[in-house]
Amino acid sequence: MNETPHERFVMPGELLGTAEEYVPGHGTYEDSGRVYAALLGRAKVDATARAISVEAIHGIPRIGEGDLVYARVDELKSQMAICTILASAATNRSAPGAPEGPIHISKAKDGYTDSLADEFAPGDIVLARVLQGHPSIKLTTAPAELGVVAARCQSCHAPLTLGSKGLVCLRCGAIERRKQSREYGVLRAGENRGQDRPTQ
Ligand SMILES: [Zn+2]
Repeated sequence: MNETPHERFVMPGELLGTAEEYVPGHGTYEDSGRVYAALLGRAKVDATARAISVEAIHGIPRIGEGDLVYARVDELKSQMAICTILASAATNRSAPGAPEGPIHISKAKDGYTDSLADEFAPGDIVLARVLQGHPSIKLTTAPAELGVVAARCQSCHAPLTLGSKGLVCLRCGAIERRKQSREYGVLRAGENRGQDRPTQ
C-alpha cells in the first residue's frame, strides 16, 4: 500500500497520498489533507513539481451486451442498485458519458436476496457483466467472479480488506458484508480478461 503511485491504474476515490507529499493536479482532488483520484485512469507523478495527476484512459465506443465493466454503485433502491459504468474491464478504457447501468435485485447474486443493502453500499466498485446494452443498459453481478471488487468502510471510509470473516476495516475494525467478487481487491490494468479466462 506504500508503493509510489507511479503510472499506476487508479479508481475514483482512491487515496494517492497526502497533500504534503503531492500537489494535487488534474484528475485529482484534495480532502482533509489527502489527495484522491477523481477519475479512472493512470496516476502520474511529476517528481520535479511534486505534483500528482490522473490521466483518464481513452474512451471505448460503446458498451455492449456481454461486456465486463467496472461500475460504481451510486444509490440503492428497493429493486435496483443504480450504478455508473466507469470502464470496460477488458481494456480498462473509460466509458464515455458515464452511462448508468442498474443492477436489478434478482441479478445481484445467485439466489434470493432480501435487500440490496445486504449486497452493496454506495461508493462500491463492482465488476459486472452487461446483460443488455440497448435500449437501456442492464448489469448483472450474479456469477462468483462478479460483484464488489473495492469497497470502503461505512463508518470511517477506509478501504475494506478481504479477511476470513468478510470485509474488514483495518482502521476501525468494522466487518461488513457485500456480494463481493471472488477477485475482491484485484484490479487488472490492460489485461484482456474476456479472452484468456473462463467467465462463467
Ligand atoms: Zn472503518
